Amino acid sequence: MREGDKTVLVVEDELAITRFLRASLQAEGFRVVEATTARAALELAASKKPEVVLLDLGLPDMDGLDALKALRQWSSAPVIVISARGEEADKIAALDGGADDYLTKPFGVAELMARLRVALRHASGEAAAEPVYEHDGLKVDLAARRVWLKRKEVRLSPLQYELLAALVRRCGRVVSQRQLIAEVWRGSGEASPESLRIFVHQLRHKIEPDPVRPRHLKTEPGVGYRLEAPER
Ligand code: CA
Repeated sequence: MREGDKTVLVVEDELAITRFLRASLQAEGFRVVEATTARAALELAASKKPEVVLLDLGLPDMDGLDALKALRQWSSAPVIVISARGEEADKIAALDGGADDYLTKPFGVAELMARLRVALRHASGEAAAEPVYEHDGLKVDLAARRVWLKRKEVRLSPLQYELLAALVRRCGRVVSQRQLIAEVWRGSGEASPESLRIFVHQLRHKIEPDPVRPRHLKTEPGVGYRLEAPER
C-alpha cells in the first residue's frame, strides 16, 4: 500500500529510532519530516501540516504531554505517542490529552503501519461510515445490533453488546478502561475496572473461538482494550 503524498511528522530524539522510522515510512511511500525537540515539532506541525504525528514522550526541551496539549490547541491531526514499557500512566495521560493511540518500544514495522493506517482512516472519517465490522470470522452489524461468530448468531446481554459496540466504533485503536466505563455504563455508578474485566471475560467467551488466546479483543496491559482492525 502506497501512501502517496501523506506526510508524517516524527518527533523523536533517539537517532536509532528516528532512522528506523524514516526508513520504514519512506518504504511505504510516506513523506517524512523530523524534529528532535518539542519546539521544532510544533513549528513543523504548523508549517508542514502533517497527516499524522509520531510523538516521543521523552523530549529534551519539553514534556511530550505538554507538547501534545500545545498541539491540540490548534491541530486535530492524529497523534500516535511513542513510549516505553512500564509507562502506562503516561499512556493513559496521553490518551486523555488527545492522543489517538500509542506504540510501545520496541515495535516493528507491521505494528507501526497498522497503527498508522487506523489513525489515518479515523482521521478521514472513513471509519464512521462503516457500520459493519468483519474480522476473522467475527461480524458485528451496528445498525442491526447483531453479532455473528463463524456465521452463527451470538446472543449478547445489552451491556455486553454496548461494550463490543464501543470497541467496534474505535476498532484497531486502544480504548482506555475509563473511556469504556463512561461509554458502556454511562455514569450509572456501578462500574469499576473490576466489573469491566468481568464483562470482557464474558464477552470473550462469546466472541472468541479460544477465549484464553483472544484473536479479536486484546488486552492493553494497564491501559485498556483493543479490538483488532480488519485488513484493508
Ligand atoms: Ca526520547
